[in-house]
Formats: sequence, C-alpha cells, structure tokens
Amino acid sequence: MTTLELAGLAAAAVILVLLVFEKFRNLSLSARLAAAENELKMLKSSPETAELRVERYELLWFPAVVFSSTQKTLEKVSAGLPHCRQCVIALKLDGQEWVCPQCRARRPESVADVMITDSVEKEATKQFLERHREYRVKNSG
Ligand SMILES: [Zn+2]
Repeated sequence: MTTLELAGLAAAAVILVLLVFEKFRNLSLSARLAAAENELKMLKSSPETAELRVERYELLWFPAVVFSSTQKTLEKVSAGLPHCRQCVIALKLDGQEWVCPQCRARRPESVADVMITDSVEKEATKQFLERHREYRVKNSG
C-alpha cells in the first residue's frame, strides 16, 4: 500500500465515522423530539378541572368538573362540600348537623343529602355545557 492509498483509506474511514455519527445524532434528536411530542400530547389530554358555583337552599356549593379539552368531554362532576353562604367556607359535619366553623350556623344533615348533591351536580353539568357548547358528557345514556 502506498502512502497515498493509506491516506485515502484513512480519509474514507473518517468520513464513514462522521456519517455514522451524524446518523446517530439525527436518530437521537428525532427520538428526543418524539418523546417531547408524546409528553405534550399527554399534557394536552390529561383532564383539567373547573370549579363552578351553585346555590341550593341558602348554601353555596363549588362543584368540581373534570373535563378533557382534547376529547371535548365532561368526565366527572362532584358536588363537593356545602359552604356557608355568608362566610364562604366549607361546613363541617357535626353529628346530624352541618356547622359553619366561623359563624357557627347550623343546618340539618339533609341539606347535603344525595338528592341535593345530585341536583348540584346536574346544575354544574348544565352550567358547564352552556359555557362550553362543543363538549358532551362522557358515557351518557
Ligand atoms: Zn358561616
């Protein structure tokens, strides 16, 4: 082998290494890009929560609505706890009564029974769908 041939071989080897390296770099870059895109998709599809305000029998409720902005679905509604209307704080259950920790106002347990929480959740659903007309309730029927 002549010196020239050796130099040519060395140059070819260097070019080959560079090509492989470039290919590898592109691969890892696109892998990272794909990972980032997946993460973004996950973030976008993860459910979000909105808090609404409903009044029922002199009490305040702040029902939470869980929704998906990618699927445009309302996933879940929960009434939460009844709140004192004057103090706007959550009531605490004390035996058979709801008590406001601040003004000590007492309400019978029945102000937050299943019928009431049901109607609070229905009202929250209605409010949400009125404000977000492109949404639908998931698995309704
Ligand atoms: Zn109060």
